[in-house]
Amino acid sequence: MTRTLITGGAGFIGSHLAETLLGRGQHVTIIDDLSTGSLENIRHLMDHERFRFAIETIGNEMVLDRLVSECDVIYHLAAAVGVQLIIQNPVHTIETNVMGTEAVLKAALRYRAKVLVASTSEVYGKSEHVPYAESDDVTLGPTARNRWAYAASKMVDEFLALAYHREHELPVVVFRLFNTVGPRQTGQYGMVIPRFVQQALGRQPLTVYGDGSQTRCFCNVLDAVRAIAGLAETPRAVGQVFNIGSTEEVSILDVARRTLALVNDGEESGWREQISLVPYAQAYAEGFEDMLRRVPDISKIGGTIGWQPTIPLDETLRQVIAYYRSAAD
Ligand code: UDP
Repeated sequence: MTRTLITGGAGFIGSHLAETLLGRGQHVTIIDDLSTGSLENIRHLMDHERFRFAIETIGNEMVLDRLVSECDVIYHLAAAVGVQLIIQNPVHTIETNVMGTEAVLKAALRYRAKVLVASTSEVYGKSEHVPYAESDDVTLGPTARNRWAYAASKMVDEFLALAYHREHELPVVVFRLFNTVGPRQTGQYGMVIPRFVQQALGRQPLTVYGDGSQTRCFCNVLDAVRAIAGLAETPRAVGQVFNIGSTEEVSILDVARRTLALVNDGEESGWREQISLVPYAQAYAEGFEDMLRRVPDISKIGGTIGWQPTIPLDETLRQVIAYYRSAAD
């Protein structure tokens, strides 16, 4: 029986991963300091006999050591995430992401636990050539711009994880999550879909940044956690980096239109009046650069574990709408 530890397990992705792994019969322990996660995300799991949780930071070495000593696989998801947070709290972001991963890898080495390290499509920086493949070169902006601190901190995490594998034969897998969406994601840190859904439900204008022609590919969180769990179960994945994301590319303006159509029960007319175009200069701090396109190449994970996303964006939007409707009740 696999004993699993999820750092950041009360977060949006971690809580879905916990649920999926419990469903597969595993013992799941999470550690989360609730900085961006919440007890609400895991409340429905608390009575499960194979579930345990520690409300603690991974900076607490003693607690981390004990939890790692009791597990076989660690999913390291604890991190400072979200573009807004990164711009507001650069010191916290860099320290949490780099020191947290270092602490997890060190503890894993003591007990030879397998570690799956969460990374992000942000590491591709502002490369213009899409789709992004794992072996591509990356282009980041200058260090004077906070925005790139997030990408750089996650790159250090990746380097460190791969170095533990090469130098100490620690079994590690790195996965780069592209835009991931679903119930329990909060719009509080800037993520576009929960923001649009909450705005639409609250009859507020949807804040589309720029002209909305920038595109993204949104992967349902259930598809994403299935990919993460699949990588953990595949010995061939060890020592490698994998993209996880959808390849269904949509413009942000289209996301706004589709959100409004679903919230308004298929009523398509008048959607433009329900959108407010916000110039980038107003939306983000000075010097912020938004990516025009971000598309993953998912052939590597497809070839390794046979994974493909299955849930289309409209279905994901319906799930997020249902989640926020029931949260309002
Ligand atoms: N975005 C937007 N309105 C919002 C929040 C975000 O138009 O209220 C845009 C943002 O500029 C970006 C896209 O939606 O082009 C995705 O933003 P998010 O922060 O969700 O993810 P990321 O920028 O990391 O892809």
